[in-house]
Amino acid sequence: MQSTLSQTQLHDLNETLEARFRELWETIHQELHSSDEEQYSDLAGRVHDRGDESVADLLADVNLAVIDHHVEEIREVEAAILRMSAGTFGLCVDCGQEVAAERLTAYPTAARCLRCQSQRERNYAQPGHSKL
Ligand SMILES: [Zn+2]
Repeated sequence: MQSTLSQTQLHDLNETLEARFRELWETIHQELHSSDEEQYSDLAGRVHDRGDESVADLLADVNLAVIDHHVEEIREVEAAILRMSAGTFGLCVDCGQEVAAERLTAYPTAARCLRCQSQRERNYAQPGHSKL
């Protein structure tokens, strides 16, 4: 039997995710500013004006290789925060079963239970591509 998250654990994970989000946003902000592209600098100016717009949308057109990795991570973090506010955090996005608490505390951005994640990796894994 796998354990489920307590309210305290959920609260802690929320704090962790929010902190990571701010940290990544700050990093991306700086990376956008340090780029020569005017459009990206403009984008960076909207960083503190997040509003209802999701980061994923905002950064959809950003193609700077240097921030790719961070953009990918902040999307995962944001998705987890959104699941948190929607009350679906900790539920596997594929099968709807609860994701083990141990897995979530180790990987707060995990969107799938172990079973679905390994299923997905079998389906999508390709030599030379990193697995999430
Ligand atoms: Zn699942």
